[in-house]
Amino acid sequence: MDIRTKAVHTGVYKDKSYNSVTTPIYPSSTFYFDALGKNKGYDYTRSGNPTRTALEENLADLEGGVGASATCTGMAAVTAVLFFLKNGDHLIAGDDIYGGTYRLFSQVLPNMGVEVSFINMRDLEAVKSAVNERTRMIWIETPSNPLLNIVDLKSVIEIAKDNKCLSVVDNTFLSPYFQRPFEFGADMIIHSTTKYLNGHSDVVGGAVMYANKEVEERGRFLVNALGISEAPFDAWLVLRGVKTLGPRMEAHQQNALAVAEFLEKHPNVKRVYYPGLASHPQQDLIKQQMRGFGGMLSFELDTAQVSPDQLFQKLKYFCLAESLGGVESLIEHPWLMSHSSMGPEGLKKSGITEETIRVSLGIEGTQDLIDDLDQALKS
Ligand SMILES: *Cc1c(COP(=O)(O)O)cnc(C)c1O
Repeated sequence: MDIRTKAVHTGVYKDKSYNSVTTPIYPSSTFYFDALGKNKGYDYTRSGNPTRTALEENLADLEGGVGASATCTGMAAVTAVLFFLKNGDHLIAGDDIYGGTYRLFSQVLPNMGVEVSFINMRDLEAVKSAVNERTRMIWIETPSNPLLNIVDLKSVIEIAKDNKCLSVVDNTFLSPYFQRPFEFGADMIIHSTTKYLNGHSDVVGGAVMYANKEVEERGRFLVNALGISEAPFDAWLVLRGVKTLGPRMEAHQQNALAVAEFLEKHPNVKRVYYPGLASHPQQDLIKQQMRGFGGMLSFELDTAQVSPDQLFQKLKYFCLAESLGGVESLIEHPWLMSHSSMGPEGLKKSGITEETIRVSLGIEGTQDLIDDLDQALKS
């Protein structure tokens, strides 16, 4: 079945009373029993809720997993997965992952007795030599945020399997519409549904998708035990947003490609990072594992000509804001905003500079976005 058909149909039909074509919102915190030990599959909303179930069925189907847990934020999904680890374990992650994930890995996990190695995950030898006898998980984010570096899913997941480690992929940037890590053997996928899956910048949420029943059982247990499941109304919003995932991703990508090509020719732009440009150095991997390039790009601004704030102030359609994946275009400064928690050392190591600008292309008219950037980039 086409993923666009799944996005519209999977999980939504939950109203046997009135035949509503959309999923009802069940805000009830608790569900009564018909008799001791006899209910209709739900007892308490932290543990399970019909509206959330509809979303979970939908999201699992989009990624091709056996199940999913919808969580209250993307970081809650990251947290649930980290609780697969215990004191004394070792985790390997890329050095250019999402800033909030980096903060959790570098400032919280060590206090819990979990050691983390941040490495350049494009270097397969570095991945292999980072593995030790305590390594239990490899955390993959591709394309990376904000520099759109590509990690070789197949090879890194193979290294994980050879060493009996769980492999986890943060698939937020491309969404299942453009990349499906389960096809490369990943054990779990996480999403910030705040981004493309919801797509309308009006809810925060996350999800963990499971490749097999074993991780699903443990993951569901953890999300309930930790108390981080998605509220019914928020789950309903994400389910509403996800139905248009396909057409939105196409529109985001069309704008990103056109804007990337425009920026690459602009004299006040030093460099553009976008997987859809021929100048992106990892063409083979892009063809091998991605069905599209997504709607995110970054560039190095020639700040001798235009300061970041001058650019931001002049733009009409690009809001100066963190986050990404909504219908409206957003622009931001990773050094001072989304990635500041990495600190100057971490930022430099990952290749982010004070000139790096990140853009999340919305679904507005392409020419309006290019004209807006053109007037704002004038020296
Ligand atoms: C936003 C984001 C997260 C965290 O999600 P929240 O919903 O903000 O908690 C994790 N990973 C990536 C790649 C993100 O962009």
